[in-house]
Amino acid sequence: MTFEQLQLISPILKALAKENYKQPTPIQEQAIPSVLAGRDLFGCAQTGTGKTAAFLLPIIQLLSTQRDPAKGKRPIRSLILTPTRELAIQISDNLKSYGRFTNLRSAVIVGGVSQKAQEQALEEGLDILIATPGRLIDLMNQGFADLSRVQILVLDEADRMLDMGFIHDMRRIIAKLPVKRQTLFFSATMPPEITSLVDSLLTNPLKIEI
Ligand code: AMP
Repeated sequence: MTFEQLQLISPILKALAKENYKQPTPIQEQAIPSVLAGRDLFGCAQTGTGKTAAFLLPIIQLLSTQRDPAKGKRPIRSLILTPTRELAIQISDNLKSYGRFTNLRSAVIVGGVSQKAQEQALEEGLDILIATPGRLIDLMNQGFADLSRVQILVLDEADRMLDMGFIHDMRRIIAKLPVKRQTLFFSATMPPEITSLVDSLLTNPLKIEI
């Protein structure tokens, strides 16, 4: 299987060639066509499987091929929630690489650093927001983050977010999103709390276990 066979657009294929990725990993092979088709996804996968590109590549494709929204500030069209700052930055670095030949804008919202630059990025408008739940809640409470136009939600390492006590923040954030959206859910383990969260958040998801 090749990335071409997954029907990815040329700006993405060019970026993957630059990364020297020769072929999709198993989770990418299974996830990409289904996410491109708009389906929800539950991926039970560890880090190291290529799960980040499995959600980033179709998100980049879906958003960069939509007609530009009417003039004005860009609405946040995809929200990626992740447990830690390190993971958020890693996802952001991958996004910049894979999306280098598109004109999508992204920002990272994490705690432990000054809020000012994050406020500014939100004020300017962006397409994809990568965030840890705590700081995002703070910014939402201050009126900085409008999530009412989000089309694709990613919960990455959801089991770790639960372990870190983020469940209430996660629920409060998700409550601000449109009900009609695509949800991509990743967890390395499947305890009962994860299964019930999956049941409450996903509609007819493709399930992939790697
Ligand atoms: P992840 O599981 O998303 O943390 O990815 C693990 C590592 O694999 C990262 O360093 C990626 O850059 C790399 N990677 C992801 N997809 C591919 C691929 N198709 N071919 C080669 N390397 C990849």
